[in-house]
Parts: sequence; C-alpha cells; structure tokens
Amino acid sequence: MIPFSPPRMDQRIVEEVGKVLLSGWITTGPRTKEFEKQLASYIGCRKVICLNSATAGMELVLRWFGVKAGDEVIIPAYTYCATANVVMHCGATPVMVDIDEKDFNISVANVKNAITAKTKAIIPVDISGFPCDYEALNALVNSAEIKASFQAQTEAQKQLGRILVMADAAHSIGAKYQGKMNGSVTDVAVFSFHAVKNLTTAEGGAVCLNLPENIDVDEIYSALNIKSLHGQSKDALAKVKAGGGNWRYDVVEPGYKCNMMDIQAAIGLVELERYDSNLTRRKEIFDFYNAAFENQSWAIQPTFLNDEKETSYHLYMLRVDGATEEQRDEIINRIFEKEVSVNVHFQPLPLLTAYKSIGYEMNDYPEAFNKYQNEITLPVYFNLTDINLATITAAVIASVKEVMG
Ligand SMILES: *Cc1c(COP(=O)(O)O)cnc(C)c1O
Repeated sequence: MIPFSPPRMDQRIVEEVGKVLLSGWITTGPRTKEFEKQLASYIGCRKVICLNSATAGMELVLRWFGVKAGDEVIIPAYTYCATANVVMHCGATPVMVDIDEKDFNISVANVKNAITAKTKAIIPVDISGFPCDYEALNALVNSAEIKASFQAQTEAQKQLGRILVMADAAHSIGAKYQGKMNGSVTDVAVFSFHAVKNLTTAEGGAVCLNLPENIDVDEIYSALNIKSLHGQSKDALAKVKAGGGNWRYDVVEPGYKCNMMDIQAAIGLVELERYDSNLTRRKEIFDFYNAAFENQSWAIQPTFLNDEKETSYHLYMLRVDGATEEQRDEIINRIFEKEVSVNVHFQPLPLLTAYKSIGYEMNDYPEAFNKYQNEITLPVYFNLTDINLATITAAVIASVKEVMG
C-alpha cells in the first residue's frame, strides 16, 4: 500500500531529538527560540512565535486582538474545521463565504459583501499551499470605506484601526506571493507543523507577525507567550535562570497551555534546514502528475503557479470533471483496491454536524460543493519514488475509467 502522507523521519531527526532528550532541557527553551529565529529569517517576517499547533496560534491571536461574543470573523466554507473552531472558542461568529471560481481559495468579492460593522478579522486559507489574493484582501481592509465602518473596541483594535487579516497558512510554508515568501504578506500568518504537513514537528505551529510598523511586535510576542503559559509572567526557563530569588512569578490572566517543546523544535530545525530539497521533490511530483493527467479529458488539474503566486506543493487536488459525489467516492474505493491511498480535502464545513446544526447550509456555498464533490487528493511527499508515482497515476486513471466509463 502506498501511504498518503508519512512524515520524513530518519536517523538525522532521531539524533537531534536524542540530543535534546539528554540535554537536561526538554520543554520550551533554546531550541524553540532558535527555531523561531530561523523561521523569521526564512520567511522574512518581523517576529515568529512557535506553539503546539496552528490552531492554538490562531486562537491566541484572536484573543490578543480581543475578538469576543458579538464579533464576526470571515472565513471560507472550504477549509479544515480549525479555522471556524478558533472563532467559536472566542465566542464570536464565523461568517462563512464561498470560494472563488478560479481556485479553492476564498473569494475576495464574497469577503467584501460579508463585511459588517461587527467584522473584526478575516481568515483566508491557502488551500493546498496556494496563496490567496492577498493584494486585493489587504487593499480591501485598508480602503477608506471599510476602515470607516470598523468599530475598534480594544487597545489592539484601536492601534490597527481596521480589520485584521490573519492567514491560515497551515499548508503554505514555502509558497511565494509576488516574489515574497508567503507568511510575510499579511498582518499575521499561521503555519501548521502537524505530522501530515509539509514541514513537521509532529505537532506544532508558528505565528508570523508582520503587523504595521507602528505596532510593537515584541510586545505581541510577549503577550502571546504569556497566554501560551497560563498567563504566567515568567516562563520555566526564566525561572531557573539568573539564580536566587527568581522563583516568584505572577499570573496576569487565566491563560492557556500550548507552548512548543524543544523536542519538537529539534525536529523542526532539521526539517527547515532541508526544506528546499523537500520543496524541490514536491514540485517534481506535481510535474509528474500534471504530465500524466494532461491528456485525460476528465482531469481538472489544480492551479499551482501563475505570474504572482507559487504553491508550497502541499496537496495535489485533482478533480474528475462531471463526477458526482457518489462517483467520486466509488473512484476512491477503486483506487484503494489498487493499493494506493488518496484523500479528500476538504468536506466543506456546512456538511459537518457541528456547523450544519447551527444553521450553516451547503446550498449557500455552491462553488465549494462543486469543487468538493469531484475532488481527489493524491499523495505528495519527499520519499515518493518515480515508480510509486507511476503506480499512483495508473491506479487513478484506471479507476476513473472503471467508474466513469
Ligand atoms: C492542519 C490544518 C490546521 C490545523 O493545524 P494544527 O497545527 O493541527 O492545529 C488549520 N487549518 C488548516 C487548513 C489545516 O489543514
């Protein structure tokens, strides 16, 4: 069986993790701080904080901004549940909008129509690693008309003076936007280092801060750190450092517990160091798939590169033209029978009980459903061989033929 997305784990990772385990310091410490520094320099953003997941990062940022009950946050209907859940955890309302015709990402026109005086943030999602239309989104939140309707209620909201753009960049580390690294082009961008993502720390996430110059990102870094450690005014490292009298700390708010461990950062440092080779292999895999499906009349290939954007090659989201949801599911069964694992990204949120039961309706998001119903995600990872790729493409082509005729 060809697996869908095994992590790239090897002796190098085992050695680096082993060093941390025996170093006397296994939780948040020097490795995490080093990983944050290296990420900030790789991305070219002002500051990075690492946490135990992207989900935690997104929620902490919304909490820092003061998003609360009565507020609205605009998200795409086509995403993973984390994007909506963090908004709901804050007591706010996720306002779901449909995606664009041209790709799997949020439509800026739909975002514009959904903005109200209650809108505090927008969470665009770089589905499959392909960046959203950030120039248009940034222009929208900065336009005089939209700024005029923004109702600032917290210090952070007053300082920014407009809707916050926080990219759910869970898929898109290493993607490029207008010649810049993705993660550096929005107020905030949050990467995921979950086991199935391009760059992994087993579990983990990073928040990239690029807020305007008038906002002190060191202060936000410190605020997010405190929120990630129960609201303690000092972290464990600060308490053991500098000797006598350092045991005393304050708890300034009832915070969370979602810091990254040095064990995780050790994996991340190796992954980051060799990330270019990972991206290169992923691109070759995309090219292989594109060549294999080019002459299949049923194949709708994913958008992954244009004049201003390049994907991080996270997910190859193939679509079978004309297939219904049932036919797509049957094609997937046939592919699995041929010993190849595939997946579907994503079930639009209105299909899922948690959101359906509170009134979100799939009918309101036709473009999301159209794309979902005939979508099949193919394996993409560093260790896939060309022989594997030939097996996968043959299995997909044969299975489509069996079901679609
Ligand atoms: C994986 C994923 C997340 C969550 O990342 P975690 O690190 O597991 O919290 C959020 N959004 C999207 C689109 C994802 O695919």
